[in-house]
Amino acid sequence: MRVARYMEPGRLVVEEMDRPVVGAGEVLVRMGACGVCGTDVKTYQRGHPLIQPGSVLGHEVAGEVVESHHPRFEVGARVAVAPYSSCGACPECRRGHPSLCTDRGEAFLQPGGFAEYLRVPRPLADAGLHRIPDHIPYEVASLAEPLACCVHGLEALSLPQDASLLIIGDGPMGLMQAAIARSFGAARITLVGLTPQRLEYARGVADVVIDGSLQDVEAALRSSAVGEVDAVMVSVASLDALAQAMSVVAKGGTVNVFAGMPSGATYPVDLKRVHYDEVRLVGTFGFGPRDFVRALDLLGDLEPQLRRLITHRVGLEQVEDALQNAARHAGVKTVVMGPARE
Ligand SMILES: [Zn+2]
Ligand SMILES: [Zn+2]
Repeated sequence: MRVARYMEPGRLVVEEMDRPVVGAGEVLVRMGACGVCGTDVKTYQRGHPLIQPGSVLGHEVAGEVVESHHPRFEVGARVAVAPYSSCGACPECRRGHPSLCTDRGEAFLQPGGFAEYLRVPRPLADAGLHRIPDHIPYEVASLAEPLACCVHGLEALSLPQDASLLIIGDGPMGLMQAAIARSFGAARITLVGLTPQRLEYARGVADVVIDGSLQDVEAALRSSAVGEVDAVMVSVASLDALAQAMSVVAKGGTVNVFAGMPSGATYPVDLKRVHYDEVRLVGTFGFGPRDFVRALDLLGDLEPQLRRLITHRVGLEQVEDALQNAARHAGVKTVVMGPARE
């Protein structure tokens, strides 16, 4: 089978590799679609502390079961695959934080998403493999993983009734948050971004869209009658965005550092806002099993809006071009299409 292998920063090769062999309790999936994610782009550009050269990138996968040794899945089942599952037994899982599981063991997709076939180990088949409805194409189902991260991030805001939500960042994550936020209690959604094509998408899902390259954000918020901002998603890795969030969030509001900030980044917090204004500064990373299930439900409900996020479809041979395009912020979401047919 063919895989796109990450060799070192700036180099990816498409090569042949043996099809994975699956054993007891395991499932072999023929890849239908695998999304290109910011993590893949960052790894390709400058390496990643947890991703070894020689590995196969890609972790947003949907496809077809072609061999199964698992009681819940038959050959031909259409599935979305979480890239990892949580153990349910480590201290973090037991304290209710499965996204922080410290004992994932063998529960990772093999060899990675940019491959024609994938082995789903037993713990992942048990907890992270899900059927998708027939009307959801693989490319849309591949959005389940990033969407699950957005579910986890939006839940952490504990939005009040009829909340006003500000999202800073017009990458795929910020746009997905805007597309689903009403399901989490947001009544008014404002999105700030810099990229014309992405802001165009935002206009279809948010109430107010601010082009940060043309408008002063605080002035635009005041003049657009957005009113008080109950919560802010910082969905761009920028300390300026975080400072803006802390300054505009209402008393009693919540700011979520959703984007992964550069390592070593620090930020001085105005403790008057934390104490007297009871502003909460939180962060979220990844997702837990329930978030993934909720994401699949949302995909069913909001399929047309979410499908419009996919602006580029490429084959495995074009993964490197796709990573370079994504690094240049071309389009919104690129999906690598695999050999599984709908
Ligand atoms: Zn991802
Ligand atoms: Zn755990």
